[in-house]
Amino acid sequence: AHLDRIAAVDGDVHAFLHVNTSEALAAAKQVDEDRSAGKPVHALAGVPVAVKDVVTTKGQPTTAGSKILEGWVPPYDASLVTRLRAAGMPLLGKTNMDEFAMGSSTEHSAYGPTHNPWDLERIPGGSGGGSAAAVAAFEAPLAVGTDTGGSIRQPASVTGTVGSKPTYGGISRYGLIAMASSLDQAGPCTRSVLDAALFHEVMAGHDPMDSTSIDAPVPPVVDAARRGDVKGMKIGIISQLDGEGYQPGVKARFDEAVAALTDAGAEVVTVSCPSFEQALAAYYLVMPSEVSSNLAKFDAMRYGLRVAPEGVDAPSAEQVMAASREAGFGNEVKRRIILGTYALSSGYYDAYYGQAQKVRTLIARDFARAFESADVLVSPTSPTTAFKLGEKLEDPMAMYLNDVATIPANLAGLPGMSLPAGLSDDGLPVGFQILAPATKDERMYGVGAALE
Ligand code: GLN
Repeated sequence: AHLDRIAAVDGDVHAFLHVNTSEALAAAKQVDEDRSAGKPVHALAGVPVAVKDVVTTKGQPTTAGSKILEGWVPPYDASLVTRLRAAGMPLLGKTNMDEFAMGSSTEHSAYGPTHNPWDLERIPGGSGGGSAAAVAAFEAPLAVGTDTGGSIRQPASVTGTVGSKPTYGGISRYGLIAMASSLDQAGPCTRSVLDAALFHEVMAGHDPMDSTSIDAPVPPVVDAARRGDVKGMKIGIISQLDGEGYQPGVKARFDEAVAALTDAGAEVVTVSCPSFEQALAAYYLVMPSEVSSNLAKFDAMRYGLRVAPEGVDAPSAEQVMAASREAGFGNEVKRRIILGTYALSSGYYDAYYGQAQKVRTLIARDFARAFESADVLVSPTSPTTAFKLGEKLEDPMAMYLNDVATIPANLAGLPGMSLPAGLSDDGLPVGFQILAPATKDERMYGVGAALE
């Protein structure tokens, strides 16, 4: 049914870069056979999944939305994909994304943008717009996303879906094509909080292949999502993320969701996180610094695109690398590599990268203080509903400002979720963000379920 739906609507939505019909059907058939043979199968066996194209899949193309990886077929599965396959979950295919997960609209994909199923003239958010749109358009019940500064939560917000970023280290990064390794985190894109919890549980857990993977039991997210109980909980409104610069309809839906939590027995407090004012600036130094290092491996020697420089008879390795990177990377990726290389260069390192790391510590301290008076923190996920394709493409600063509310959680490694909070005055979905302390992911699922 999902493959039929993809065939019917993906020409308009363009959520997928690659659809995997025969393998998906074979995996589904295997589950049927196991079931009829009386073998025990996982609770989610047979539930199909779409996977963001930044996650490696053995035998299936993986491009990270970039021309530099066009045609690359990974020789191994990401650890989270291994878990999905082990659970008998058919992989429908790979979803579109901003190149190397850099962007907030999926317009930076080298393979053309994804369209928001609510209004095809509008962006589906980014970088994981393909995963969110696939779920919103009923092309997949579940999709894998990755979130470095909001790429699971902001697309969820503007497509009326649920997006959850676990605590950093909660789901293995092994086999994720790295954007900024200290911030990257995979997680579920779904249509309900309980779906997200069930899906989270399949992918989560310690992995020796990732040195930052948490070696502790998975938080009881499914229990919390089933209970959906907020009685006696303290909900903290972050004063720095409350109001200013938000579209009126976004603010109105946010206030209503907070009122609903009060009605359900929660207590609302206001907390102040003054360093959040510098979060965007710190992120746009830490992230590009890590990007410039992580993307150095795309050198045309090991894999991916190789371009001969024009008019050179016997080009040097360096000339081939330069020509390949020039042809293979898009403008946004180049912008960040240049910015990161500059921030890390000798003489500027302390002033930029060092300073940003200090701000990062201050943000973590703001969170720690806020969680002394609140169990979870809440804000609108994104300042506006889905904007028009092309509207912010030429203005990087306007694009970056989409992430004001989502970035602090990445800088501090905390779990965050976005869930639908109704429609704004323009008839488009609004997202409600819930943040919890590290390893307490179950709290955001509990609060999220109370709102559904
Ligand atoms: N929109 C943010 C950026 O462009 C976040 C990206 C992400 O989470 N991968 O960096």
